[in-house]
Amino acid sequence: MGYTREDEKLIGGRFDELLKSCEKICNSDDDWDIIKRAFAVAKEAHKGVRRRSGEPYIIHPIAVARICVDEIGLGVKSVVASLLHDVVEDTDLTVEDISRMFTPKIASMVDGLTKISGVFVDRDSSKQAENFRKMLLTLLDDVRVILIKIADRLHNMRTLGSMPRDKQIKITSETLFLFAPLAYRLGLYAIKSELEDLSLRYLFPEEYADIEGKLEAMKERRKELIAKFDEPIVAKLRENGVDFDISGRVKSVYSVWRKMKEKEIPFEEVYDLFALRIVFRPSQLISERTQCWYIYELVTDLYPSRPDRLRDWITFPKPNGYEALHTTVMGPEGVWVEVQIRSERMNDVAEHGVAAHWKHKEATEDELSARETQDEKFDAWLGRIRDALSSPTENAVDFLDNFQRTLYASEIVVFTPKGESRRMPKGATVLDFAYEIHSKLGASAIGAKINHKIESIFTPLNSGDQIEVLTSKSAAPKLEWLDHVMTSKAKHQIKNYLRRNSLLPLDDAPVAAKEKPKQGAAKFLKFWTLFQSSGSGSGGDTAAEGSGAVGDSITAGKSGGRVEKFEIAECCIPIPGDDVTGYRDPTSGKIIVHKTNCSELTRLAAQHGEGIMSDIHWSSQEVKSFLSTINIQGIDRVGILMDLVGVITGELGINIRELKIQSHDGVFDGEIGVYVTNTRDLKSLITKIKKIKGIDKAQRAK
Ligand code: MN
Repeated sequence: MGYTREDEKLIGGRFDELLKSCEKICNSDDDWDIIKRAFAVAKEAHKGVRRRSGEPYIIHPIAVARICVDEIGLGVKSVVASLLHDVVEDTDLTVEDISRMFTPKIASMVDGLTKISGVFVDRDSSKQAENFRKMLLTLLDDVRVILIKIADRLHNMRTLGSMPRDKQIKITSETLFLFAPLAYRLGLYAIKSELEDLSLRYLFPEEYADIEGKLEAMKERRKELIAKFDEPIVAKLRENGVDFDISGRVKSVYSVWRKMKEKEIPFEEVYDLFALRIVFRPSQLISERTQCWYIYELVTDLYPSRPDRLRDWITFPKPNGYEALHTTVMGPEGVWVEVQIRSERMNDVAEHGVAAHWKHKEATEDELSARETQDEKFDAWLGRIRDALSSPTENAVDFLDNFQRTLYASEIVVFTPKGESRRMPKGATVLDFAYEIHSKLGASAIGAKINHKIESIFTPLNSGDQIEVLTSKSAAPKLEWLDHVMTSKAKHQIKNYLRRNSLLPLDDAPVAAKEKPKQGAAKFLKFWTLFQSSGSGSGGDTAAEGSGAVGDSITAGKSGGRVEKFEIAECCIPIPGDDVTGYRDPTSGKIIVHKTNCSELTRLAAQHGEGIMSDIHWSSQEVKSFLSTINIQGIDRVGILMDLVGVITGELGINIRELKIQSHDGVFDGEIGVYVTNTRDLKSLITKIKKIKGIDKAQRAK
C-alpha cells in the first residue's frame, strides 16, 4: 500500500514548509541534497504506515525536523537525524544502512534516538529507568540527540488528542515528570511552557478551559492596557538613544494554574498576569549589564516598582544560563506588570537555550566572556550528571527520582525585606538565611515572615522567597538547631555559641548531637496531642479505617459494572469529589487510588506507566466518611485549641480523628485529621477554620 494522491499533496506541502525553514541553515548544495535524500529514505521506509490520527506517518518526522530548526535552532545534521529518527525502530533499515547511505555521525545520532524511543514502553520499571539512564548517557555524547527527542515529544504532545485516555495520562505524566524539567534545564523556555500547558489540557481539561477562557476574555482590555503602558516607555527609551524592541506577553495557562493551586487563590487574585519584554541591541562601549540597569532606571522612573519583585538574573544567572532583569511595576489602573529586560544575546539564550551556544559565529568580547561562563556552567552540570550516572550505589529507579530532582536548580536566590538577593543552597532554612545575613540575627531568630506569612525558623526556603527574620532578645541557639541548618556558616556559628556556653557535648559527633536534642526538645516545645474519637452525629463507626483503608465506594470499568477492591493512596488520600486515577500495583495486584494531580502518581506513571487506570469514578450509592488531613498554621494564643475543636465538632458536627499542635516561640503548626464525606464538606470546614482568630493558614494536606 503506497501513498494516495491526497497523501502526496499533504506530504509535499509539509516538506516544502520544512525546506523553507531550512533556508536559514543550509549553506551549500550538499546541505540541500542530504536533507532531500533523508526525506526520500524516510518517506519510502514509512510507506503504508499511518498515525492514529489517520495521517501518513512521514508527517511526524517532518514536523519534528521543523521544530528542530524553527523552535530549537538546530542545524542540518539534526534535520537529517530527525527525518530518520523512527526509521530504524519501525522499519527494516538498520543503523549500518544509515551509516552507508549518510554519514557515521548521522547514523550514531539515529542510533541514539532509536535507543531512547524504547525508554518508556517497557513494562519492567527498572528496565525502563535503566533505559532512561542510557538516554542520558547519549546526552553526554551529543546534546543534539536529546534536543531532537524533546522535539519528538513536543510533536507527540501536540497530537495527543487522538490517543486513548490512559495513554494520554501516561504520556503527560512522563512529560511533566521528565521532559518539561529537561527542556527547562536546557533553557528551552517556550517549549517547556508549551509542554506544561499541553499536559494540563489533557490532565485537567475543565480547569484548563476555564483559565484559558478567562485569559482570552481579558485580551482586549489587556491590549488597551499594554498600549497605554508601553507608550511612555517607548518614548523615554528612544529619547535616551536605546535601540530596542518591545513586546507584551501573558502568563501561561499552566503557570496561572500552578499559582492558583500553590497559593490557593482564585484566578482574579493572580496578579502578575502580564509581562512586557524589552530586548535591546547593546552599544559596544558599555557592558550589557550596565545597560540593563540603565533601562531599568528609565522604566522605574516612569512607574513605581515593587522592590520585592526585582529579579536580577544578570548578577546571578539561573543555572541553565538564563540572564535578564525582571521587575514588577504598577501600571495604569493599578495593574501590576512584569517588565523583563534583556540584551539580544540574552534573549537568544532564553529562546533557544543551549543551542544558542553554537550560533553567533562572531561575538563581541562581552558576549564571549558571558558565553564562556555559561559554557562552564553547562559543563559543570554535565559533570554532575556524569557523576550521578556512574554512581554505583543507586538502583535505577532511585536514580531516576534523584535525577528528576537535580534537573531543577541546585541553588536558590532569596530576598531580604528590602529586596536584596542572597544565594543559598537548595534546602537551606530560615536559620541558614538568618546566619547568612548576620550571626547576631541568627542567634536571636524565633521565626520568620516568608512572603508575609508566619513560618518557623526551620522552614526550608524556596527560590524567590522574601524573608523577614523575627527576633527576640531572650532567644538563643539550641542544640537541635544543628539538625535544621545546612550551611557551614550557620553550623559553625551555632557550635561556637554552644561551646562557649558549654552546651555542646565535647564529643560532638552527629549521633550524640541528635540524641541530646531529642531529650532537650521537650523543654522548648509545648506539645499537645489530642485524640477525640467521637463528637456528635454519625460517621465515627462507619468511617473508613485510616488512610490505608479498603473502600468499595469507587467503581472502575467502562460499564461501571465491575467493582473491585481499592485502596486509598496514603500519599494524597483522595476523598469523594476529587478527580482520581488508579494504579495497579505490580507486586500486590491491588488498585491504589490516587488524586489525579498527585505527584506520587505522576512519578509512578512516568516509571511504570502500564499500571495506570484512568477509568475510575466515585460511586454515589453509599455515603461513607473518609479521613482527610488539614494543615494549619498561625500565631499561638490562649484558647485557640478550644476554638478549633469548637468549630470542627460543634458547628459542623464533623468527627475529629486526631489533632496535633506543635507550638514554639509563639508560632504553631498543626495537623487535624477529620472524617468527611466529600470535598465540599472539607472545603467548607477549611473556610470556617481560616476565620478563627490567629489562624494564618489552613489547607488540605498535600
Ligand atoms: Mn517520533
